[in-house]
Amino acid sequence: MITTTTDWNELADKSLAGAELSRDEAMAVLQCPNDELLALLHAAFRVRLHFYGRDVRLHVLQNAKSGTCPENCSFCSQSLDAESGTKRYPMKSVEELVEGARRAHALGASKYCMVTATRGPMGRDLATICEATRRIKQEMNIKICASLGLLNMEVAQELAAAGVDRFNHNLETSREYFSKVCQTHAFDDRVSTVKIAKAAGMEACCGGIVGLGEQFEDRVALAFELRELGVESIPVNFLDPRPGTPLANVPRMVPAECLKALCMFRLVNPSRDIRAAGGREACLKEMQIFALYPANSIFTEGYLTTDGQGYKRDIAMIEDAGFRVAELVESDG
Ligand code: SF4
Repeated sequence: MITTTTDWNELADKSLAGAELSRDEAMAVLQCPNDELLALLHAAFRVRLHFYGRDVRLHVLQNAKSGTCPENCSFCSQSLDAESGTKRYPMKSVEELVEGARRAHALGASKYCMVTATRGPMGRDLATICEATRRIKQEMNIKICASLGLLNMEVAQELAAAGVDRFNHNLETSREYFSKVCQTHAFDDRVSTVKIAKAAGMEACCGGIVGLGEQFEDRVALAFELRELGVESIPVNFLDPRPGTPLANVPRMVPAECLKALCMFRLVNPSRDIRAAGGREACLKEMQIFALYPANSIFTEGYLTTDGQGYKRDIAMIEDAGFRVAELVESDG
C-alpha cells in the first residue's frame, strides 16, 4: 500500500506522463490515510490544473419529465417503484425547455442537460427534445446534453442531427455490483447505450453513484470501465439516500471518502471532465470546496429531485477558492 506523500505525487506524474494507473494504485488512493488527504488532493489538483487550469464548468439540469420511470434503480426516487413523493409530471413543452436553457445561459453555464425519467426516448418526447435542441442552438451559445435512458442507433442519430452535443447515461456502479441496484435492465444495456451515443457522433457523459453499499473495488472497476469506454465526461454522484427508496437507510459517505473517490476518478481518467455531481452538498458538507481540486465541473442550481446550495453560494465557493467559471468555447467537451 502507498503511504508516503511523495508517492501521491508520483501517481500524478504518472497520469501526467500519459501512463495508466494500475488497479492497485487506484485502490491505494481510496485507502489513503486521512492524514495524507491534503497531499492526495494536491496530487490530483496537479493533474486537474494541467488539463483544465482553474476553470470550473457549470452544468445546469432540467428535469423534463419526472417521476415516471418504469425501471427499478434502487437509489432513484423517480422510479415508479419508489414511494418517495417525488413530483410526477409529463414531458415539459418545447417553450419550457427553451426557457430553462435561457436561464442556464444567463448563469454562464457551459452545458444545459435535459433529463427524462424514462426507459428510453420515443415518440412525442423525442420530438420535443429534438425541437427544443434546435431552437436553443439557434438562439444561444450553449452545449446541449440529453439524458433520456437507453438508446438505439436510429434515435441516437436523430438526437445528434438535432444538435445534441452530449448524451448522458451513467454506468452507475461496477459490472459486478450493478444487479444489486437494478434488475429491470442490465449493465451491458448501459454500456451499449454509451457506445451507440458515441458512434452517432455525440460525446458521452457517463459516470456513476458512489456510496450505494459497494466496495472500494467496485468504485475502481467503474473508473476503469469508464476509461475503457473513453467517455468525455464523468459525473461522480454521492448517494444522498432518498426516503421511499430501497436505499433510504444507507448512511451517507463522509466527506473524506467522497474526496478520495474524486481523486481516484481524476487520476484514472486524467484528462476527462470530472464532475462533483449529485449529493455534493449533502455528503461533502463544509468540505465541498475541496472537491474543486480534483473535479473541474459541478452542477449548479440543484439536481433532478433535490435542491443544491444555490447558484450564488456556488459562485462564492468557486471564487473564494481562487477558481473561475469556465467560458464556453467551441472546442469544450
Ligand atoms: S433508469 Fe434512470 S430515471 Fe429510471 S429508475 Fe433508473 S436512474 Fe431513475
